[in-house]
Amino acid sequence: MTDATSQIREIARNLLSEGRVQTVLGYEEAPLGLGLRPAFVREPSGTGRLVFDARPTLGLARYLPGEIASALARAEDGAAGSGGTTRGATVAVVAKGCDVRAVLRLVADRRIRRENVILIGVPCSGSIDEERFPRLIAKCSGCDARLPEGCDFTIETMAEPRPADRHRPLKVEDLEGMTADERYTFWQRQFARCIRCFACRSVCPACGCRECALESRSPVWLERDVNPSTQSMFHFMRLMHTAGRCVDCGECERVCPVGIPLTLLTRKLMSDIRTLFGVEHPETPGDSEPLARFGLSDPEEFI
Ligand code: SF4
Ligand code: SF4
Ligand code: SF4
Repeated sequence: MTDATSQIREIARNLLSEGRVQTVLGYEEAPLGLGLRPAFVREPSGTGRLVFDARPTLGLARYLPGEIASALARAEDGAAGSGGTTRGATVAVVAKGCDVRAVLRLVADRRIRRENVILIGVPCSGSIDEERFPRLIAKCSGCDARLPEGCDFTIETMAEPRPADRHRPLKVEDLEGMTADERYTFWQRQFARCIRCFACRSVCPACGCRECALESRSPVWLERDVNPSTQSMFHFMRLMHTAGRCVDCGECERVCPVGIPLTLLTRKLMSDIRTLFGVEHPETPGDSEPLARFGLSDPEEFI
């Protein structure tokens, strides 16, 4: 068995050489030893740049809508120049289990079509940077998506889960064990650190509005001043807009520069949504968006 990087390079080279995809989205070394960064490979000769290992890095799903649109535009330009027609554009993407869920979220929201994506799935033991920060990152703690499902290619690799929870002080059950006052104090302290950089919103595959309500200037839903009320409002609005649709990819927490445990919030929310509305698979269209529909059997004790 060759390593994951070699297998990914070979698959990418074949896909590009055979013209089955216009782009392969994967990872390459960032300059200055800063870890892995996204790579957009469009020629077979570029596949040698592709790298894959356990170092934490950005999930690539959020790049798919833009890259598929650009690949389509390039294909149409080429077809117009040669007097022909185009049948669309396909992009291959390297995806761990959490990334596959994010891709399915985009498909469920009709932001991309599944037939425009080739999934190169990589079984995962959890993200960790052995040299710089030798701890499993928080989003991998308790992950149940280590083996990606439904991919077009699956990399052969061992994916034994690494020991988790060493630096995760709280779980959803701990939150549920607090009194309402304790929970309120806990979250006020967390939200007070938020610098409203919008990274959690921008990276989320479930956030897809063309104009985000959090940034709208007409009407103004959220004032720009910083006080406990607006800080809470920011987080509650973001949370409610992903209610029933969050796929637990954990990217919001991974990108937060001030370390707010956002998946604690999203996992609690999805646990309640599961109990109240029976949503088990938020990446499946029929199971999604319980708060966007009305049903006569909906629970209403809280109204
Ligand atoms: S969340 Fe799961 S699939 Fe994603 S990097 Fe962590 S362990 Fe791997
Ligand atoms: S990523 Fe963190 S700091 Fe930035 S807006 Fe989200 S919660 Fe706030
Ligand atoms: S809210 Fe966070 S965990 Fe949920 S889909 Fe968005 S980025 Fe992923």
